[in-house]
Amino acid sequence: MPPRTTVWILGDQLLKIHPAIQKAEEEHPRSSIQVLLIENRARISRLPYHRKKIVLLLSAMRHYAVELKNQGYEVDYIQAPSLQAGLARHFQAWNPERIYTMAASERRGREFQQQTLAKRTDAAVDVLPNTQFLVGRFNPIPEPEPEKSYVMENFYRAMRRHFGLLMDGGNPAGGQWNYDKENRKRLPRDVRIPEPPRFSPDQITTTVIDEVRELKAATGSLQDFALAVTGSDANLAFDDFVKNRLPEFGPFEDAMSSTSGTLFHSILSPYLNLGLLDPLDLAMQAEEAYLNDQAPINSAEGFIRQIIGWREYMYWQYWRMGPEYRELNFWKASRPLPAWFWDGGTRMKCLAQALKRIQNTGYAHHIERLMLLSNFSLLAGLDPGEVNDWFLSHFIDAYEWVMEPNVIGMGLHADGGLTATKPYIASANYINKMSDYCKGCEYNHRQRTGEGACPFNALYWNFLLENEQTLRNNPRMGPNVLGLRHLEDEERILIRSEAQEFLSGLI
Ligand code: FAD
Ligand code: SF4
Repeated sequence: MPPRTTVWILGDQLLKIHPAIQKAEEEHPRSSIQVLLIENRARISRLPYHRKKIVLLLSAMRHYAVELKNQGYEVDYIQAPSLQAGLARHFQAWNPERIYTMAASERRGREFQQQTLAKRTDAAVDVLPNTQFLVGRFNPIPEPEPEKSYVMENFYRAMRRHFGLLMDGGNPAGGQWNYDKENRKRLPRDVRIPEPPRFSPDQITTTVIDEVRELKAATGSLQDFALAVTGSDANLAFDDFVKNRLPEFGPFEDAMSSTSGTLFHSILSPYLNLGLLDPLDLAMQAEEAYLNDQAPINSAEGFIRQIIGWREYMYWQYWRMGPEYRELNFWKASRPLPAWFWDGGTRMKCLAQALKRIQNTGYAHHIERLMLLSNFSLLAGLDPGEVNDWFLSHFIDAYEWVMEPNVIGMGLHADGGLTATKPYIASANYINKMSDYCKGCEYNHRQRTGEGACPFNALYWNFLLENEQTLRNNPRMGPNVLGLRHLEDEERILIRSEAQEFLSGLI
């Protein structure tokens, strides 16, 4: 008897316990179930994605298929030029009676599952709720009052309460919900930064690397691929983080360094976003590390806030905001991205180093994404849609659900404040305070205008001048706008003209 029940698993749903498999097994004998995975060539060439991201995705899918086979499942693993072609091939070969699939995390995929899939087959289609995110397991999610924005902090507290994480009865453990103030330390000179673990490519990964080398429309380097491609290795990467980096994660969360691109960050987003790690499991283990005195509360709380706060909030925002969100352009920015975003060929040392690292690894930590790349993009008036696509292309953890709220919302404030309560803008003063980049840079971080002045300065003050009234209306921008009082007319004119000169040379 050929299998007539299909469980279709998407490439970023490589969950250890997959609800579609569970449901199929509740209703059918395992011998009638076949798991379908499709490598969709059109999807991996929609943008010139980072080569390491493509290797990670394809290798993780192939390893997942092998694991399922080892557990006794029949697997139909299809490589196809498009999703439609892959599905058609499966339907023709197996003519399933029933299809189980978990709702995609991204709009396009979910719409296809919910609206189109059933039209392509005679099978009954069951699209199950997405359990990859905690908000999918949290019913009902507290809705904001109409017309009020629901800020991350309230969302996060609701999540802490609901999942009982770092709670002391009804109160936050340690007496505070948030230890952000303790988490803004600059790196000491003699700090030792443990290297994240490396996973040598096996035969499957090596084959994928060879295939990806042939791709024309891709970006980034393939050299030294050392990411985890299985759930068990991703868990080893997490264990290593808890042991070696979590204790310092909090204090140096906002620091940047010219000698380390990773610092004490976890580098777990690529695995979380593929379903190889479970967010609740990570949050619970971080809490345990705090309870066992392996990590201070500001580190454990900081990490848990990223996982159950920011990450979940961004996913929730993506689904609340709808497809028009990507088109928002609050500041009416329209400048094309300069070509050096692709190769780091700029004299600005901080950006040059971050961009070159991204070419090599497909990774930058949060503050570099926010306070270097997005900050520059916002101050320079770069087109939000182009910036969004650039981020989507260049990062190993990039997916539409996470990119739109982070780039359009948090990074560029192009949504006018629907996601973050203020635009994250800063001059060179902040970059110098939080990093060692400014040492040895051709530009002078102290100088606002004139020969050799850091472009971040003229751009920052120019942005304040151009948008003074709008920024004044935001209570969180008060201190920034107040700074304008100290500018004489002459300096204002100079700032405007130097910013314009810099921007007109930005190609
Ligand atoms: P850590 O600093 O160790 O944090 C732990 C985990 O928290 C991360 O692995 C991630 O899963 C989660 N997290 C923290 N902040 C966020 C956030 N704002 N949104 C979602 N998850 C968060 N994250 C992605 O997963 N993919 C992206 O493509 C992505 N693009 C971004 C673009 C911009 C402009 C900005 C400002 C942020 C972006 N982020 C993205 C969020 C965040 O920068 C990354 O999740 C984080 O840097 C990943 O590195 P890490 O695993 O070492 O994180
Ligand atoms: Fe970046 Fe300006 Fe500092 Fe140079 S001086 S590293 S451009 S902030």
